[in-house]
Amino acid sequence: QLYNTLQELRGNIRVFCRIRPIFNEEGKCTIDYIGNDGSLMVIDPFKPQNTCKIFQFNKVFGPTATQDEVYKDTQALIRSVMDGYNVCIFAYGQTGSGKTHTMCGPSNGSSKDIGINYMALNDLFQISSIREDNRTLEIRSCSNNVWLSLPDANMHLVQSTADVLNLMKLGEKNRTFGSTAMNHRSSRSHSVLTVHVHGKDISGGAIHSCLHLVDLAGSERVDKSEATGDRLKEAQHINKSLSCLGDVITALAQKNSHIPYRNSKLTQLLQNSLGGNAKMLMFAHVSPEADSYGETISTLKFAQRAS
Ligand code: ADP
Ligand code: MG
Repeated sequence: QLYNTLQELRGNIRVFCRIRPIFNEEGKCTIDYIGNDGSLMVIDPFKPQNTCKIFQFNKVFGPTATQDEVYKDTQALIRSVMDGYNVCIFAYGQTGSGKTHTMCGPSNGSSKDIGINYMALNDLFQISSIREDNRTLEIRSCSNNVWLSLPDANMHLVQSTADVLNLMKLGEKNRTFGSTAMNHRSSRSHSVLTVHVHGKDISGGAIHSCLHLVDLAGSERVDKSEATGDRLKEAQHINKSLSCLGDVITALAQKNSHIPYRNSKLTQLLQNSLGGNAKMLMFAHVSPEADSYGETISTLKFAQRAS
């Protein structure tokens, strides 16, 4: 119900902000206030006076929000894939802000607190079994360095969430990892999980829709991770693809006649699920520690461009 209202208000793009728990209890927290109405107040920890900035999103999840709470507000969108809508969900934010936690679950691999990917797949399988449709979903998993011809991408038929889980583990193995000053597990690639759904509508017509679940590469600026050589090139490449994504989203939000899909492979890959009738949700992830203040502001500004 909430979704319908939001959709009427904001069209097909919505933005949720998620703030992860603070790791260092002694550190200052930059988040001052989270409103029920999707507003968020951020304090500049380096200015003596209460210098604050206010942002407005569709919803803000604070540090105590559970995976279930997050999924509850995502579920209607996921389910609309079964009604023929193309859906794209992005996790955006600097390394360490909780993108993978939201999409997959905790980094310790615990099966508690599973993320949106698994809950979404469970949901889709459940709906398809109730509808007695064609029960197979197709999964395509690839990382951004294989690009559009996608020579290394494989299409798999899957029967259950467990099948998908195994595929995703394989995908994660294939993902390129580079250690940066920020995080040794830092992944410097986008991870795209695409689910194709084939089914029939009530009148027997064919439905083909897809769901993209995208765990984007960290959005931090290049200099911060002190990268050099190949790492630097890679980082610049990532920043460029993220800024192209931002341009596409801004153009869509402004309902421009020209949408610059062709400026990056990522936006080309996702083109059929960005714009038109497709629905998009971006999670803007925030690390609340004072030393992340600069990245927090740039993440929130990026996300604000969508609304
Ligand atoms: P990213 O993918 O953005 O680099 P991660 O998802 O790996 O960040 O999160 C960094 C660390 O913080 C991980 O150990 C993760 O489990 C933890 N974490 C992130 N978000 C939350 C949360 N909402 N609650 C508890 N732990 C979290
Ligand atoms: Mg990650």
